[in-house]
Amino acid sequence: MTGRQPSDSARRLLPTSTAGSLPKPAWLAEPEKLWSPWQLHGDALAEGKQDALRISVHEQEQAGIDILSDGEQTRQHFVTTFIEHLSGVDFENRETVRIRDRYDASVPTVVGSVGREKPVFVDDARFLRAQTDRPIKWALPGPMTMIDTLADRHYGSREKLAWEFAGILNEEAKELEAAGVDIIQFDEPSFNVFFDDVQDWGVAALERAAEGLRAETAVHICYGYGITANTDWKATLGAEWRQYEKTFPMIRESSIDIVSLECQHSHVPMDLIELIRGKKVMLGAIDVASTAVESADEVADVLRKALEFVEPELLIPSTNCGMAPLSREVAQGKLAALSAGADIVRRELAPRAG
Ligand SMILES: [Zn+2]
Repeated sequence: MTGRQPSDSARRLLPTSTAGSLPKPAWLAEPEKLWSPWQLHGDALAEGKQDALRISVHEQEQAGIDILSDGEQTRQHFVTTFIEHLSGVDFENRETVRIRDRYDASVPTVVGSVGREKPVFVDDARFLRAQTDRPIKWALPGPMTMIDTLADRHYGSREKLAWEFAGILNEEAKELEAAGVDIIQFDEPSFNVFFDDVQDWGVAALERAAEGLRAETAVHICYGYGITANTDWKATLGAEWRQYEKTFPMIRESSIDIVSLECQHSHVPMDLIELIRGKKVMLGAIDVASTAVESADEVADVLRKALEFVEPELLIPSTNCGMAPLSREVAQGKLAALSAGADIVRRELAPRAG
């Protein structure tokens, strides 16, 4: 990283970011679809993934996003792509399991001791690092979400397998950090579902995955992509979504630096942010379950409400979740709205920032 100068975006108030995934170009994978198959093969696929990553960086920069991601252009899915690169996993004979206690999905099967024989995303991260001087964030699945997105025919214990994955994730995270990643994010949507496990071993396994990192660490806890199974589930959660109330006190006590949560058009009471006082808050100010592009004022409104519970220096405006299932046009509009909304609030804060 020698020669890389910290950019203004690294220092400015309310640096914007995204939860992670962004839509892929149609020539790379069929759009608006999860687990969308690749349209290219062999060398053309490898080259196509890099081209898509370049475009994604360019589009994020054009939209004024400060902390960039790879848009997950090189992975088919945020969890299974990582698992499929490990030994001890049979990813050809997939099984259908119920994930997040909510919907069935065809997933890889653990058939032996899991191990990471070679880095999974490190080359991709190095490539991303070479594309931009802005801070970069890399998302990995969290241990609990990994075990909830596979079939286990070997360990027979969610906890035991989660600890194995935590060690593997830690190896990968350390190499991502060495490749120049500034923020390592662990995606743990399962934390909004399996509260007993979160308490018994979930947060401890997450801390194990993040152990010894100098890069900042984040945990993303959301209500999922804007797919029907998730929107149906949300409809059953009542007028107030208080899931974070159970996990945030444990996260606050943890070593994790940043908490990424969902706030735009969600029924999460804003005052729950108080429970992670002192942590950086990556606040979802963009709804990923709707194709309607937010206005800058709508974004600013959510940010202002959050500022009652988080210091401006600790607020990172972001999206509720990944935008992979949206059209590119809608996603690009939402990124621009996020940026414009953050700008409004930055101007309002300027006098007090001196
Ligand atoms: Zn999410």
